[in-house]
Amino acid sequence: MANPDKPSSAIAFVYRGTFVHSTQQTALQVLEDALLGVDTEGKIAFIGEGKQLEKLSKIFGFSTSEVTQLTEHEFVMPGLVDTHIHACQYSYAGTALDLPLLQWLNTYTFPVESRFKDLEFARQVYTRVVKRTLTNGTTTACYFASIHTDASLLLGQIANDLGQRALVGKVCMDRNDFVKHYRENIQESQDETCRFIEEFLNKKYPLAKPVVTPRFAPSCSGELLEQLGEIAKNNNLHIQSHISENKEEVQLVKELFPESESYTDVYHKYNLLTDKTVMAHGCYLSDKELAVFRETGASLSHCPSSNFSLCSGVLNVRNVLQHKVKLGLGTDVAGGYSASMLDAVRRTMDASKVLTIQDPEHKALTFEEVFRLATLGGSQALSLDDQTGNFEVGKDFDALRVNVAAPGGPIDLIHSEGPKTLLEKFLNLGDDRNIVEVFVAGRRVVPFIEPTAE
Ligand SMILES: [Zn+2]
Repeated sequence: MANPDKPSSAIAFVYRGTFVHSTQQTALQVLEDALLGVDTEGKIAFIGEGKQLEKLSKIFGFSTSEVTQLTEHEFVMPGLVDTHIHACQYSYAGTALDLPLLQWLNTYTFPVESRFKDLEFARQVYTRVVKRTLTNGTTTACYFASIHTDASLLLGQIANDLGQRALVGKVCMDRNDFVKHYRENIQESQDETCRFIEEFLNKKYPLAKPVVTPRFAPSCSGELLEQLGEIAKNNNLHIQSHISENKEEVQLVKELFPESESYTDVYHKYNLLTDKTVMAHGCYLSDKELAVFRETGASLSHCPSSNFSLCSGVLNVRNVLQHKVKLGLGTDVAGGYSASMLDAVRRTMDASKVLTIQDPEHKALTFEEVFRLATLGGSQALSLDDQTGNFEVGKDFDALRVNVAAPGGPIDLIHSEGPKTLLEKFLNLGDDRNIVEVFVAGRRVVPFIEPTAE
């Protein structure tokens, strides 16, 4: 029954044209000449057929003259979900791709991340990474920051101010023998994580949340992992980390945690695998470990650009999906050199084809399947699929308005193409020039929100 104190929200805007999205059953659903209305709360109020315009305008109380008509080469798709990105590594994105993981961390990553105690430097880098990812269509990002609490809080504020949906983690690490000034002791890590969570939650951001973030098992003592598992449980928070990225790292974990049966077992033992956990990579997980992911509801973030750049490995996504483990895509900046999720889509296709080259029996992923992983799959991996990921009535409107024939853009359309081909061309050839508008929770965030003049 309707609550008289809280009338259902009015319609803020309506789009008419082609919509593409994924559902649990269908990797790609195309809705041609559709109508989609967004209410003043930013939620999808209705989806209907163009011919129902008069009827819908009466039911939902909007004027038919206010409907925005998409052009022939335009479509609206769900926003891209980056399930794994290191905001503080953005400063050296596109460089330093010549070493394997453990040496790469010691040589490039830790020295750069240690600079984020400088809040002015943090502000510059974090503003740029949030803007860059937003213009490239990332409506939801799951960020690693650095070990510095105040800079990590700043990242949350910047994402909130620019209107991006974000999970933000202050990194925890009490083991680092190579760059000794870039680590915490266990007490600091615990205290600062609690302060980070408390101060973050006190801000009451509508779309940004803190994430418990042990860097990865080799950087954390068992005692710290145990405490972080407890903190996540007590506050019902998301958890993110890395797992089984390269062989040397898997071997190191075996040596550091000899009592554990597997890498997965290390996290599982410390209650770090929950249905709100996302683990990056997982290239070398056994089927038995994947079964633990499925049982716990933990998900994987597939970061193929990084896996290729650092010569880490090639995740068999098909096998992960067959094990019914939730999976999204990640850029993993700066192991991955591009902050654009379109690059993650393309590298996911490449990685899948590499497996088919190695074994012709392997069934490569289709572009429709990869599209789903980059949108709905990502929202499922982050346990945000009740709010975002596709166009269902009641979900937040997180969306991209794409013009495949944008003037000055990277795509030449020779023939008149159907919506499925337009999407395929955009995924393979498009860039931010094709992304005309970006919406998060019904609010237009690209072009950027200009600060209001006082
Ligand atoms: Zn990473």
